[in-house]
Amino acid sequence: MADSNVKEIEDLIRIISKLPGLGPKSAKRIVLKLINNREELIKPLTNTLAQVYKNVVRCRTCGNLKSTNSDCNCASKKYDQICVVENLADMFVIESTGIYKGHYHILGGTLPSFESKNSGNGLLIESLLNRVKKNSVKEVILATSASIEGETTAHYISDILKNTKAKITRLAKGVPVGGEIEFLDDGTLYSAFKNRSSITND
Ligand SMILES: [Zn+2]
Repeated sequence: MADSNVKEIEDLIRIISKLPGLGPKSAKRIVLKLINNREELIKPLTNTLAQVYKNVVRCRTCGNLKSTNSDCNCASKKYDQICVVENLADMFVIESTGIYKGHYHILGGTLPSFESKNSGNGLLIESLLNRVKKNSVKEVILATSASIEGETTAHYISDILKNTKAKITRLAKGVPVGGEIEFLDDGTLYSAFKNRSSITND
């Protein structure tokens, strides 16, 4: 298998090894498993991939994934909370913690810190404003990262939403649990200082 001269197999190994968490070695194991289970695995996988390629798109309202065969969740019913994230991966991480079960808004990136922010840079910001207004959303949780770009984006969005009724909240930043001050990057430490809160009773 390692020295397979079959072009189709080499191509497949090359593609699979690009997937997250997989290197050439695990890609080869996967391909071997596929080859040995043509009917049970290759056939349904081929069909499913074709369906995903054909039907799964990003919703132009909320940025989440949706099927062209059905309405997106964001259109279904009213909701009063929206958590704004940069990308799908961030949403999956927050979802997996189980700490938040409401609706999401996936921006599709961040604003660059250096450019004029007027354009919105193709991010789904206008549609966020529309969602907030349309649903009379009570709280918008800005869960963009604590990088300069993430901060710039959060500030920009809170400015855009300032005339709505929504309360804008931002994830608390600072020293991560178990984080040693010595190993914090400058930005985190700066933020931790800036957002420090009193621990003594008034
Ligand atoms: Zn949607």
